[in-house]
Amino acid sequence: MSKFWSPLAGSLEPYVPGEQPKDKTYIKLNTNENPYPPSPKALEAIAAAADADLRLYPDPTCDALIQEVARCYGLSPKQIFVGNGSDEVLAFAFAAFFDPAKPVLFPDITYSFYKVYAQLYRLTPRLIPLDDEFNIPVGEFTSGGDHGGIILPNPNAPTAKLLPLADIVAMLEANPDRVVIIDEAYIDFGGESAVKLVPDYPNLLVIQTLSKSRSLAGLRVGFAFGSEELIEGLDRIKNSFNSYTLDRLALHGAVASLQDEAYFRETTEKVIRTRERVARQVAELGFRGTESRANFLFISHPSIAAKDIFLRLREKGVLVRYFASKRIDNHLRVSIGTDEEMDAFIAALRETVEELQ
Ligand code: PMP
Repeated sequence: MSKFWSPLAGSLEPYVPGEQPKDKTYIKLNTNENPYPPSPKALEAIAAAADADLRLYPDPTCDALIQEVARCYGLSPKQIFVGNGSDEVLAFAFAAFFDPAKPVLFPDITYSFYKVYAQLYRLTPRLIPLDDEFNIPVGEFTSGGDHGGIILPNPNAPTAKLLPLADIVAMLEANPDRVVIIDEAYIDFGGESAVKLVPDYPNLLVIQTLSKSRSLAGLRVGFAFGSEELIEGLDRIKNSFNSYTLDRLALHGAVASLQDEAYFRETTEKVIRTRERVARQVAELGFRGTESRANFLFISHPSIAAKDIFLRLREKGVLVRYFASKRIDNHLRVSIGTDEEMDAFIAALRETVEELQ
């Protein structure tokens, strides 16, 4: 605690991002990045945008990108918000829709940034524990009560489990006067998106990102889909921070990426195929895992500690994610890489199991 810090800065427990190691080259399966490069068309568009116009501010209303997102998802531009990665969209959504006087509901075991944002905006989280199988207890989100709104990822992270759309509908119908935020960072890897519910539910905000299925984590582009009144709420917050959230390169790259539907489908399908194959292989090595609908697996071994496996894999040059927090400290989260990377992972994991068993 520094004497120069505000009480808020002193009290925060900032999010700790997955390691981006610099000591050597790892097979990097720890931060759910896409192993395939972005669309070549996106890379060309970014290169072409790196010109003298960078001296000018970018379009503060991101019109070209919003038009393209609207076209892609069949909504009106007024139902779309874009931000600097979905983390920023989430930060704005917490500020725009949750009231510090009422608790905000989210699952206990979820994306750990939610807790940080709750602290930042002085909200009180009401944590809803997952059941023994890591399912979200939907009834806890539909039984009314005095709360100020809901946020959850679908599929959940790091459990990788998907909620069917009918459960999301139940939450929306049970909470007509509260905002329900569905964070769909991983939805393109086999889930059914709630975006199609946006025209029917003014209380629904869906958040997506180009970081995962579009291989553009480095560009920092995220979206929100919602009713006009929700989008207007987000714009009010954004324009109170930095109205130029997206830079010129990101605006051009994002449009070109969204236009390249064929490349998106091809790479996403490859990730899904590899996931299914690796899920079978880790099961053969004795691991248990949830049924993943994301670009990662969430696995545990019945007799070897996850931390020991994590450390041994790291020594072998394979980086996966270990969480020290209780209930999941016996699990590992493994991002899906290329087939070659996953072959190397399986070989290292097989050796590790033999060494530690
Ligand atoms: N939501 C979830 C559930 C995530 O796992 C992540 C990535 N770690 C994000 C949002 C943020 O993604 P980005 O800011 O790269 O769009």
